[in-house]
Amino acid sequence: MVAGPSGAGKDTLIKRALQVVPRARLSISATTRAPREGEEHGRDYHFLTEDEFDRLVGEGAFLEWARVFSGRYGTLSSDVEKMRDEGIDVILEIDVQGALQVKDKLPDARFVFIMPSSLEVLEERLRRRGLDSEPEIGKRLGIAPKEIEIGKREFDVIIVNDELEKATEELVSVLKGEGV
Ligand code: ADP
Ligand code: 5GP
Repeated sequence: MVAGPSGAGKDTLIKRALQVVPRARLSISATTRAPREGEEHGRDYHFLTEDEFDRLVGEGAFLEWARVFSGRYGTLSSDVEKMRDEGIDVILEIDVQGALQVKDKLPDARFVFIMPSSLEVLEERLRRRGLDSEPEIGKRLGIAPKEIEIGKREFDVIIVNDELEKATEELVSVLKGEGV
């Protein structure tokens, strides 16, 4: 389980760590947000309509889901079960609300929080990433202090993503079960 404010570097660190930990894989979430340029259905997310998302909620198909910023995001139980049956270490990249929902359901999961070195750095990274509109960046920054507070209180491991190389090594250690 990897959570942290938007722009903290979750995607970057997970992609780098996966190159050295072959038995781990990232679960693909479902979302109602629109695809960004270059994003593909089934690779980055399962992009769903509000109706499709509602139907899956009604069917109890989600291990967890939450409203985050301008959309709903969720993890499909069937995806996670299938990977676990295949012996894959599943990584969930989800927000803190979703993470708290799975705490009871996945007692053996490790809770990793990716922390930006400061809110200023977070803002700079969100801007430099250039993927979100100004109002969207505002929403993401606005919620970050609360997320950080929950991360400090509820998570097992906190990785400060200051120096990329060092933070990647810390995540790799956790994925290999070595702790940090
Ligand atoms: P998240 O998945 O948490 O929203 P990203 O992985 O998309 O965050 O990272 C946000 C931006 O910050 C990206 O442009 C990424 O290249 C950059 N970034 C991530 N980690 C670092 C780092 N340690 N130093 C500098 N820039 C970084
Ligand atoms: P983005 O829109 O930048 O792709 O993702 C925004 C945020 O949604 C991420 O920072 C991540 O924490 C959260 N997120 C992505 N997938 C899921 C999911 O399946 N469940 C929950 N609860 N949050 C998710």
